[in-house]
Amino acid sequence: MNLFNVLTDRPVDPESAAAKFIADTKHEETHDRLVWGMRMHRDEAARQIPGWEELRELASQIKEHTLTHLDQYLEQFEQNAIAHGVHVHWALDAAEHNDIVLSIFQKHNVKRVIKSKSMLQEECGMAAALETQGIEVRESDLGERIQQLAHERPSHIVVPAIHQLRTDVAALFAKNLATDEQNSDPHYLTEAMRNDARPALLHADAGMTGANFAIAETGGIVICTNEGNADIGVTVPDLQVCSIGIEKLVPRSADLGVMLRLLSRSALGTPMTQYTTHLHRPRPGTRIHFILVDNKRSDRLASPDFWHALKCIRCGACMNTCPVYRRSGGLSYQATYSGPIGVILDPGFDHTKYRELPYHSTLCGSCSEVCPVRIDIADQIYKWRRVIADEGLLPLAKRAGMAVMGETLSHTEAFHGAEAVAIKAIEQLPGVVFNNPLNPWTKHRDMPNPPKQTFHQWYQKNRGSE
Ligand code: SF4
Repeated sequence: MNLFNVLTDRPVDPESAAAKFIADTKHEETHDRLVWGMRMHRDEAARQIPGWEELRELASQIKEHTLTHLDQYLEQFEQNAIAHGVHVHWALDAAEHNDIVLSIFQKHNVKRVIKSKSMLQEECGMAAALETQGIEVRESDLGERIQQLAHERPSHIVVPAIHQLRTDVAALFAKNLATDEQNSDPHYLTEAMRNDARPALLHADAGMTGANFAIAETGGIVICTNEGNADIGVTVPDLQVCSIGIEKLVPRSADLGVMLRLLSRSALGTPMTQYTTHLHRPRPGTRIHFILVDNKRSDRLASPDFWHALKCIRCGACMNTCPVYRRSGGLSYQATYSGPIGVILDPGFDHTKYRELPYHSTLCGSCSEVCPVRIDIADQIYKWRRVIADEGLLPLAKRAGMAVMGETLSHTEAFHGAEAVAIKAIEQLPGVVFNNPLNPWTKHRDMPNPPKQTFHQWYQKNRGSE
């Protein structure tokens, strides 16, 4: 194993990364406000749809049905796509996906690629892999391009640069696009990006996209964007390569209506994405390649505890509502996916490396409440904690603490004894024993005064006879 692998395989440390983000109060406050704003818009949009809960249930059932018949729908999709003249490939993992893309590009002598946002291509580390082979990969989505220029991952699956202030973007563009650093007007910055992207779109040798949905009945894919960048990317170059996670299937066009009603409302609170593009067949003289990617999705599908995560339609609603995500920012997760969906997806790729992520959650359950396809996210976070604890991957201090806690909570007498000792200690010991820099619990809060009576005593007194 080389040094690069040793460093990149080290367990992530979301706590330290989050502490840095939180220390920068301007970024933290703006991030929290913007992300919570999206959650509020989502609530407003949901209220305007009669039967919103029934719609969520229907979407959940469509996804569950598809996942339990995935082999059939994938074959149907492949046959229909081939009948339309699309080249269909299958990739078992990220390396195979990147090799397929590279071989297509080498065959067609591709040197410049324009791509629209795809979390799957991000998951595969595709851009970096192609760049080592001398192929330039340019992001066409504004947020993704900002992140590309900043050499950072997307921090949110829908709004990748949500953690950046306008002034950050102005400084980044000034450095890379020779704009005025003092001018952070969004129209000015967007125009600069547009002028920079246009030649890249016009002169690209190939276009790349992901897929929001793939329809078995038609063999076509659907790409949803708000900028129209994917539409130009799939129209101008003569060669298209689309990476499709195998979980993106829906059986029929009619099912798409359900998903599209939920997607943008859950994401940003808007009724529909500005552009919803259907891609079925190459224009005469052009080529389209679909790559169906597994990359551990089959393992997840076989897992009774974690297969539900494959229902995800990547709306980001769970991130927008999560109190941990909102305050710690997406980059603190140090993984492809952040927020509650990341907490349940990332350990599926490598649960040793991402063992801390399931603890990057309050388990409040707000994510499960907003998820348009009703994924039991909080429950899966809890289950990942069980896996990590059972495999002995917790830090020593936490393991020891949990063992003591487990023993205490499972024996009534021990619990009441510990309770009495704790109350006495809080009453009689000087405050500095608890409120000191070594106690992380009191870093952001004061130790409360001990109660006059415990809940158990209150219950015995008031309800003991029931
Ligand atoms: S888990 Fe649910 S809420 Fe989160 S991104 Fe996926 S579909 Fe949206």
